[in-house]
Amino acid sequence: MGCTMPAPPKNRLRTSLLILLWLGLSALAGWGSYHVARDYALDSLQVDGNHRLDLYTASLQREIDKYAFLPGVMALQPQVQSLLQVPDDAGLTLYVNRYLEALSQSAGTLSVYLLDHSGRVLAASNWQRADSFVGEDLSFRPYVQQALRQGYGRYFGIGTTRGEPGYYLTTPLGQGEQRGIAVVKVGLSLLEHSWAAAESPVFVSDENTVLMLSNVPQWRFTTLDVLDDAQRARLKSSLKYNQQALQPLNWKILDSSLQGNSAVQLVELPGGVDASPGYSSGQFLALSRTLAGSPWKMTVLLPLASALPLAQSRAWLTAVMVALGLMLLALLLQRRSHLREQLAARQALQQAHDALERQVQQRTAQLQSANTALQQEVAERMQAEVTLRAAQDELVQAGKLAVIGKLSTEVAHELNQPLAALRALAGNSQRFLERSQTDMVQSNLQRMADLSDRMGRITGQLRNFARRSLDMPQAVPLADVMEPALALMQPRMDRCGAEVVCDIPAQLRVLCDTNRVQQVLINLLGNALDAMLQQSTPRIEIGGEVKDGQAHISVRDHGPGLSEQALAHLFQPFFTTKLKGEGLGLGLSLSSDIAKASGGCLQGRNHPEGGAVFTLSLPLADTQPLL
Ligand code: ADP
Repeated sequence: MGCTMPAPPKNRLRTSLLILLWLGLSALAGWGSYHVARDYALDSLQVDGNHRLDLYTASLQREIDKYAFLPGVMALQPQVQSLLQVPDDAGLTLYVNRYLEALSQSAGTLSVYLLDHSGRVLAASNWQRADSFVGEDLSFRPYVQQALRQGYGRYFGIGTTRGEPGYYLTTPLGQGEQRGIAVVKVGLSLLEHSWAAAESPVFVSDENTVLMLSNVPQWRFTTLDVLDDAQRARLKSSLKYNQQALQPLNWKILDSSLQGNSAVQLVELPGGVDASPGYSSGQFLALSRTLAGSPWKMTVLLPLASALPLAQSRAWLTAVMVALGLMLLALLLQRRSHLREQLAARQALQQAHDALERQVQQRTAQLQSANTALQQEVAERMQAEVTLRAAQDELVQAGKLAVIGKLSTEVAHELNQPLAALRALAGNSQRFLERSQTDMVQSNLQRMADLSDRMGRITGQLRNFARRSLDMPQAVPLADVMEPALALMQPRMDRCGAEVVCDIPAQLRVLCDTNRVQQVLINLLGNALDAMLQQSTPRIEIGGEVKDGQAHISVRDHGPGLSEQALAHLFQPFFTTKLKGEGLGLGLSLSSDIAKASGGCLQGRNHPEGGAVFTLSLPLADTQPLL
C-alpha cells in the first residue's frame, strides 16, 4: 500500500488561500456578470416597455381622437343651436334628444348630451331612460368647468347619475347667453379595447394615483398610493370617483432605483384588491410615462421572470467559465514557472559546465605548461647528466692519469734497465763485429730484440691503461682483467719487494669495462702497497669467488688496516690521510663510482687477522654458477 507524504503546513495554507482566492474571484465574476446581464436585460425590457408605451399611448390617443369631432358635429346641427337659443321648446328638445340618441348609438359612446351655459342638461342621448340626467345641473363637474375655462375639456370620471366610469370630451357651443356645452362620454372599454391583446398589465393613473384605465378589470379605481382618511374624504366630496372604494393596488415596490423605473411585486395587501390570477405572484418592471397634455401617467408592467433567471444563469455560466479560466491560467502559470525553472536549471547547468570547461582548459593549459617545464627540466637534467657524465669521465681519466703519474717513476726505472742493457749489448756487438765474432753478435741481437719486446710490452700496457675508456661492458675472464693491472704494478711491487698471491679461478668471467676495472684494481693495489710501506715483506692476497650471484674480487694487505676515521669517510672525495703530493683522496671515491656504474659495488673493511680488505663486486658474465 503506497503512502503519501503530508504537505508542509506553509504549503497547505498557501493552497487554501489560493482556493479561497479562486472561489472569490469566480464569485465576483458571477456577481459582476449577474449585474451586467441584469442591467442588459433591464435595458432590453425598458426598450420593449418604451415601445409598448409608445404603442399604447398612440392607441389611446387614436381612440380618443375618434370621438373628438363629435361635439363639433353637434354644433353643426341647427336644432342644437336653436335649442340653446330656446331652451324650453319641447318640440325642439325632443328633436335634439332623438338626434343625440342616434348620434350616440352610431358613434358607440356611453352618452352624448347638451348643457346650457349654466351647466343644466338641455338634451341627452339617454333621455328615454329612467336615470336620464336631462334637467340635471352638472355645472360642478370638472369637465364643464374645463370647457368654459379653456375651450375644451378632457376628463376621466364616473358618472354621478349611473355611477358609470367614462372619458368625457367637452366643447363649448354658441356665444354669450346662447352658449352651450357639448359633452361626449366614451366608455372605458372602448378605450381599453386597443390594449386587449396586451400580454402584460397596462394602466393609466390620474393625478390622485387612481387607476382610471387598465386591461386588468379588477385594478380599475384602485390607487397606487395607500390613501389616508383625509385624502379619501376629499376625493369623496369631489364626486369624481362617485362611490368607488379606492382601495390600494396590491403591489409592493421592490426596488425604485432601476434606471428611473421600479421593480414591483404583486402581493396580498391587507385591504387590497385581489390581483388577477395571471399576475398574482410575479415580479415586474414598472415603466411609466406622463400622457401629453395631462397629469395622467400610463404604466406598463413587464415581467422580470424571463430577465432575472437569464441573468442568473448567465452569472452562473460566467462564474463557471471564470473558474475554469482561472484554473487554466493557474495551470499555464504553473507550467510557465516550471518551464522557467527548467530553463534556469539548464542555464545553471550550462554555466557550471562552462565554468568546468574553463577550469579544465585552465588546468590543461597549466598542465601543458608544467609538462613543458618538466620536459625542459628533464632535458636540462639529461644535459646536466651528460655534462656530469662527461665531467665524471674526465675525473676518472684524471684519476687514471694520476695513477699513471705515480707509476711513471717505476715505469721509467723499468725502461731504463733494458735501455742500459741495449746500449751495452749494442757496444759489445760492435766489438764482436770488429773481431768477426758473428755468433756472439747474433746472440746479442737476439737479446736486444727480446729487450725491445719487453720494453714494447711495458709501454703497450701503459698505453692501453692510459687510453680513454669506451664505456662498453664486455664479458671477460676475471684473470684477464687482473693480469694487465698486476703487470703495470709489477715494477712498483718489485721495488717494494712485495709478495702478491693471486688466486682467481680461471673460469670466473665478469661483465665489465676492462679498462675501468683495471683502474680500480690498480688503485686498490697502490693503496695496499702504500699501507705496507714500512713493512720489509709486504704481502698482498688477491682472491676471486662467486657469492650471491656476483663475482667478488678481494684485495687484502697486511698493513695497519683502516682507521675509524678512514672507515667513516672511506669513499668521500678528497678524503686522504696521506701527505700532500702523495694522495688526492679521489682514488676510492672514483673506484666506488666505477664499481656502481659497472653494476656492482666496492666495500672496505678490516681483516680480523689484521690489514685491510677491499672487495669489488661485479656482475657475472655467465649465469651458470661455477663448479
Ligand atoms: P689516496 O690514496 O690519494 O689517499 P684513496 O682514496 O685511495 O686516496 O685513499 C683514501 C685513504 O684511505 C687513504 O689516504 C688511506 O688513509 C686510506 N686507505 C686506503 N687504502 C688503505 C689500506 N689498504 N690500508 C690502510 N688505509 C688505506
